[in-house]
Amino acid sequence: MLFDPYQRTINYLRISVTDRCNLRCRYCMPEKGLPLTPHDEILTYEEILRIVRIFAAEGISKVRLTGGEPLVRKGIVHFVSRLSEIEEIKDLSLTTNGLLLKDFAADLKRAGLKRINISLDTLNRDKFLLITRRNGYERVWQGIEEAMKVSLSPIKINMVAMKGFNDDEIESFALLTLHHPLIVRYIEYMPSGSGEEWKDGNILTIPEIKKRLEEMGRLIPIPSDQWDGPARRFRLEGAMGEIGLIGPVSDHFCEACNRLRLTPDGKIRTCLFSDEEIDVKAFLRNGGSDEDLRNQLLVALKTKPERHHINTHQFKKCQRNMSAIGG
Ligand code: SAM
Repeated sequence: MLFDPYQRTINYLRISVTDRCNLRCRYCMPEKGLPLTPHDEILTYEEILRIVRIFAAEGISKVRLTGGEPLVRKGIVHFVSRLSEIEEIKDLSLTTNGLLLKDFAADLKRAGLKRINISLDTLNRDKFLLITRRNGYERVWQGIEEAMKVSLSPIKINMVAMKGFNDDEIESFALLTLHHPLIVRYIEYMPSGSGEEWKDGNILTIPEIKKRLEEMGRLIPIPSDQWDGPARRFRLEGAMGEIGLIGPVSDHFCEACNRLRLTPDGKIRTCLFSDEEIDVKAFLRNGGSDEDLRNQLLVALKTKPERHHINTHQFKKCQRNMSAIGG
């Protein structure tokens, strides 16, 4: 078991396999994209596997692949199958914008992926184009349908709620859970990223969202299990699916944080909102031993901050964009 200085158990590694993305969500990236990390600076799959094996032996049991957009990186399916062979990894998942999911869902399932998170902020195709600056709403839906068809489960739909943009869709997203085995999760917009259009005033808080959902019917709390993470779980009475509420801004859940992040260029980040990074690539590429890498993990644990400082005067927007950290 791995613990940080605040007695939190750390068992979760989020791996961003690329900083490339096939969307340009306004709240995340500028229209022209961001300077990309040169190819040879990106960790190879073999390097990531080595890190995961070492960290898994110490206590990491949960891995999520993210990006950028993880499905744009070549060889991702084979990489998933290699990860799924690591015995200590009990929970392997992936976060995608869904654009390529229709083509990948069956292969990912065969490769050993059990569950998937799909980011989708609107159920309206024109608004999809407005926010992502790309067409593709139908393709994302086909991806979600394919994921259901091949029984990736659970399927979580993550919606970043923003005032004046998709706040009129809170109820429509919740209605999806009535007849589909989907988990719809509302996530507060966070002050991160290089998007130019959404500002602090756009945050639709979880308490506001919950109030709206309660007006739709009985919202029954569901006890959380060990794999739940920060979402508070609910079910609308009679619904097949579930609702999750994630409020990193209004209800910071740092005391339960169990995660570390690995960036595409081989840095461990101990908090989404801290620019403190521990360089593991330097050890990987300079003949570092497994023991050296284990020590870097221990350094990361020691430096994990107690909490983020969004909502306080100490808060500074972090240097790295969300697309290069892995949200
Ligand atoms: N491309 C993948 C996807 O779309 O899920 C993975 C990477 S993306 C950076 C991960 C998640 O971060 C997405 O759900 C996205 O909506 C979310 N995200 C990006 N910027 C955010 C922000 N400022 N506040 C809240 N969520 C954000």
